[in-house]
Amino acid sequence: MPELRRDPVIGRWVIISTERSRRPGGLRTQNESQGSVPCPFCPGNESKTPPEILAYGPRGRSPNTPGWSTRVVPNKFPALQIEGDLHRGGEDLFDRMDGLGAHEVIVETDDHTKQLEDLNENQVTDVLFSWRDRIMDLKRDPRFEYILVFKNRGTAAGASLAHAHSQLIATPMVPIRVKQELRGSDEYYEKKGRCIFCEIMRAEIEKKERVVEVNDDFAVITPFASRFPFEMWIMPRRHSSSFETSTDAQFRALSRTLKSVLARLNNVLDNPPYNFIVHTGPLKANQLAHFHWHIELMPKIVHTAGFEWGAGFYINPTPPEQAALYLREVNNGPTA
Ligand SMILES: [Zn+2]
Ligand SMILES: [Zn+2]
Ligand SMILES: [Zn+2]
Repeated sequence: MPELRRDPVIGRWVIISTERSRRPGGLRTQNESQGSVPCPFCPGNESKTPPEILAYGPRGRSPNTPGWSTRVVPNKFPALQIEGDLHRGGEDLFDRMDGLGAHEVIVETDDHTKQLEDLNENQVTDVLFSWRDRIMDLKRDPRFEYILVFKNRGTAAGASLAHAHSQLIATPMVPIRVKQELRGSDEYYEKKGRCIFCEIMRAEIEKKERVVEVNDDFAVITPFASRFPFEMWIMPRRHSSSFETSTDAQFRALSRTLKSVLARLNNVLDNPPYNFIVHTGPLKANQLAHFHWHIELMPKIVHTAGFEWGAGFYINPTPPEQAALYLREVNNGPTA
């Protein structure tokens, strides 16, 4: 069982993993598996993953057989484990908890050669629906406080398998990054009575210089204090603090926006490795007036080094205004 430990000074939780230290094929984390090892996410290899939790496909298909288009399975090497009670312990300064949580993998397509952005709009929408459906299901488990959906694309961004996939981790506490956003936006709301994310979006759309694209449902901006070159935030135009309560039409619009934004990124930076994360509200909060869900997208093109680790400061060599200009002007279709 992994263990969750709380840093006594700043309150950040760390997962001390026992299972992952035994993770086989250490080399595979260096090089994406390319043919030599059969890909566990390809159709026909369903038995190489733990039994599926959810799959979209034709009616009448038997579980764990080919024919699916989107498939969700437990991570074979989970950072946290689903079994167990929420057992809190620790002595004096040292707060610890059983490493309880859920760690799932969303296989985004049955086609090994396609990336998320190569899929058609309906297929990407299905990926978004699968995130929603899993959040809705895990939400009923009272042990969980938060679910983080994220994607690592490319070895440099932490992906150990090339086949297009995203992941989610449910945790028994709200992660510190999210807490900081909740606290900051709450303080702003207390003072001004408005959602700071709505305000940022309004100001950016008016100013235009950090806007990558904007449509009826979503705005994509390079944030004013971007930490990384070409960092982008995708924000719903309509205020909402929870990703999973979006309407089907909004998910379809998000699918189009995501495809377009990833195509822009690929065209400007030549298919870079990237990470994106969905920041939604805590599971036990209903609609919050001060928090606004969003996706943060970060290409992995600079290394985080000593100053960043030591200071929590980031050095960003590309002004977000310049990044927005490049991203705005480039083709948002498939790489030529
Ligand atoms: Zn594959
Ligand atoms: Zn808002
Ligand atoms: Zn965020």
